[in-house]
Amino acid sequence: MKYETVAEAYRDLEQATGRLALIERLAALLAQTPAGLLPTVSYLCQGLIAPEFAGVDLGLAEKLAVRAVATATGVDPAQVTTTLRQTGDLGQAAEQLLQTTTDRTGTLEIADVVRDLHQIAQAEGQGSQGRKLDLLAGLLTKATPLEARYLLRVVTKGLRLGIGTPTILDALAHVYAGGRAARPVLERAYNICCDLGRVAAVLAEDGLTGVERLQVQPGNPVRAMLAQRLSEAAGILAKLDGRCAAEYKYDGVRVQAHRTADGAIELYTRRLERVSAQFPDVVELLQAGLGPREAILEGEVVAFDPAAGELHPFQEVMFRRRKHGIAEAVRDVPVGLFCFELLYADGEDLTRHPYPERRARLAKAITPSPQLRLTTATEVAAPEELEAAFEQAVTDGCEGLVCKSVGSAAIYQAGARGWLWIKLKRDYRTELSDTVDLVVVGAFSGRGRRRGVYGALLLAAYDPDADVFRTVTKCGTGFSDADLAALPDKLAPLASEAKPARVDARQEPDVWFEPGLVLEILSAELTLSPNYTAGWGLVKDQAGLAMRFPRFTGRWRDDKSAEDATTTRELVDMFRTARRTPAG
Ligand code: ATP
Repeated sequence: MKYETVAEAYRDLEQATGRLALIERLAALLAQTPAGLLPTVSYLCQGLIAPEFAGVDLGLAEKLAVRAVATATGVDPAQVTTTLRQTGDLGQAAEQLLQTTTDRTGTLEIADVVRDLHQIAQAEGQGSQGRKLDLLAGLLTKATPLEARYLLRVVTKGLRLGIGTPTILDALAHVYAGGRAARPVLERAYNICCDLGRVAAVLAEDGLTGVERLQVQPGNPVRAMLAQRLSEAAGILAKLDGRCAAEYKYDGVRVQAHRTADGAIELYTRRLERVSAQFPDVVELLQAGLGPREAILEGEVVAFDPAAGELHPFQEVMFRRRKHGIAEAVRDVPVGLFCFELLYADGEDLTRHPYPERRARLAKAITPSPQLRLTTATEVAAPEELEAAFEQAVTDGCEGLVCKSVGSAAIYQAGARGWLWIKLKRDYRTELSDTVDLVVVGAFSGRGRRRGVYGALLLAAYDPDADVFRTVTKCGTGFSDADLAALPDKLAPLASEAKPARVDARQEPDVWFEPGLVLEILSAELTLSPNYTAGWGLVKDQAGLAMRFPRFTGRWRDDKSAEDATTTRELVDMFRTARRTPAG
């Protein structure tokens, strides 16, 4: 199969408006793809050449890519730079230059392109820059103008098709499983392996029943199970059939540890980044204290003083998220791992076993030490008991509780924010109530004192059913001068000329952004408004939810992808809860 076919699909996807059009175009591409290439083409649809967690980094600086374009087009690098400045995008610049120098037809095969891109990613050490340059120039020498546009966007990470994985799953369901009804099965499979290529391969080979049989497997991260929120002990117990396990909610970094058959331990964050190198002490703790030869375990890494037995705030553990000076950071900020889940142990997928059983297996799997522990948990069956556990958790330096269902249906819901876990946090008790995590989808230029920077951001919540981001507020408060100065750089790579296909908004900001940057926002109140689209029509016809007096808390949620933001459903729940129990 020719790379040109993928490039043409990229072009159409970029121009498509609306989700149905995206699904249809993706489905057409996938239907054309031979089974053997389906995993590769699925990654290409995600803008990747391997699953995200593999962390394949093409690592090509723009300068080097400019040289490759110059070599391939026979044009001076200075002229490439000039064209780049005019178009603002190296892909477009290369396309233009090739249009004037060649009229070739597509000969590049997908398999060859992806092989060369992998080699570009793997080139390391002395002479690697030259090797990367040669490989890219080699591809560009054979590329059509359109192919060159996308090859360059892929290597400079500028390929923003605006399609989320759920949309690609819909397209796969359409082609291979009779339509959208199959999406939950595909979604579960993706959530337990984070590898779209693997899901697509099994689907093409063994059909939907094969996909249903997929199990978690060490080495493939599992998407995190998340918690709903409530602010009242009685309400929590009512949701959990009268009893639950009240676990301390530690304020740190969630990690998922995988020990594979070769004995190696890899740690993944919620965003699927590998962080074993940043936490060598945690790897060591697990090497010593984790029983099963193969396992997947989850816990919270918290800044922790084992001598005093004291938990330290989140900011301290963030000091450990660094590339350099790791030995010093390990010495200066000791951490503990507080384990709360066991998803796999020696050949057995535990995700469909109920929580009490998983917890018992976890207790057996761990030999505790001062820095490797299970989360503190107590079973409670009355609001007063839950309140007491909450007070104790806060006294001990935690954020609050995660209350977990102990029922027989309390499976591990990968990638879902369901009612099997409900969090109760300290900050829900303050007058200013909840924080939410919202995605930046647009910005309004600043005036007066803020001339030249953004004056306010258009923020959205995620609607996972439709894979769409729906607006809920405009926020310009809470940003320090340093935050305001940092925003343009953080947002520039996400800028989009038109409203991105997955954004649903009723107002026109000065700049649109692809959903990518997540901010923590303190909300004072939710009201109904015809100007915002979150929860549109769910509470009242022709109205969505609007957040009044929003304020940035100063916490950039870089640990979250856009799809991890607060959902529109949660906002509707918050609105309804607030109406039932007025603040104060
Ligand atoms: P928040 O912003 O409140 O930290 P979140 O959106 O990051 O929440 P939630 O699912 O809402 O994630 O809250 C659960 C998070 O709390 C988990 O992702 C995990 O990092 C952390 N956590 C701390 N202690 C526990 C525990 N005992 N069980 C489960 N999760 C825990």
